[in-house]
Amino acid sequence: MAMVRLAGCCTSHRPVASVLKVGLHHYQMYCLLRHPAPIKHLRHLRRKLSESRSVGFLYLPALKMLMFLLLLSFQGASVMMAAFEKHFDRLQSAILERECDPKAGTDCACGAGQSLYRCQDCFTSTVSCQQCLLRSHTDLPLHHIQHWTGTHFERTNLGDLGLILCLGHATLRCPNAPTDSKERPTVIVHTNGIHKLDVEYCYCAYAADEPTQLASAGLFPATTEKPETAFTFAVLKEFHAHTLSSKKSAYDYYIALQKLTNNAFPDRTYVSILHA
Ligand SMILES: [Zn+2]
Ligand SMILES: [Zn+2]
Ligand SMILES: [Zn+2]
Repeated sequence: MAMVRLAGCCTSHRPVASVLKVGLHHYQMYCLLRHPAPIKHLRHLRRKLSESRSVGFLYLPALKMLMFLLLLSFQGASVMMAAFEKHFDRLQSAILERECDPKAGTDCACGAGQSLYRCQDCFTSTVSCQQCLLRSHTDLPLHHIQHWTGTHFERTNLGDLGLILCLGHATLRCPNAPTDSKERPTVIVHTNGIHKLDVEYCYCAYAADEPTQLASAGLFPATTEKPETAFTFAVLKEFHAHTLSSKKSAYDYYIALQKLTNNAFPDRTYVSILHA
């Protein structure tokens, strides 16, 4: 998000605070644009605000006074949003158009299947078939994926589509893996949410132990014996930054990760393989 990049460039607190404030207003605007009803409500509030300015402040009945104060609190946001108001309809259309893709359900460019999947984390999220999606994500295993049901997109994940996280040989399976070896289902906690993937370890003679293999791949194991949960270094770094700057607790951060994984049913996110 541009807000974060700009904030990272600033060296003093005031520019950071103002950039974050602008970013927050833009995010609130984005939420409003996704849900048309509040926009009408906001316009109504703004109209009411301009009307209420002409009424004598001291003679207002208590109820109107409360209303006035409430509306006054919207003025800061509404002044900033005034410049955007003439763009609302087009911005709203552009945001809502992203919920659908006219190519969904058509033949994939490879000619081998239907274009039913798209990635929410890749910058260009064109729909493709399952095989093309897996091929393009061997190195991006922690991206969120959506599946076209015929009427709408639903969240799915790369692990369920067959992606295996192979350690020790880039993205390839270990050539020395026993034929009866099984990948281990593992919960992986990342900055964008909580994932479940099958992990294939390296079995070469020189291979390190499992926790070390995970650490070499940028994953910190939750246990040292047959790890089934791991945290990306990125999520540990991000939590460290959050807790130092806003005193956010690990519990609050975890709740946010749950919501990023499944905002409708956060309780259904993976906690461990036992609950997956
Ligand atoms: Zn992706
Ligand atoms: Zn394809
Ligand atoms: Zn190997």
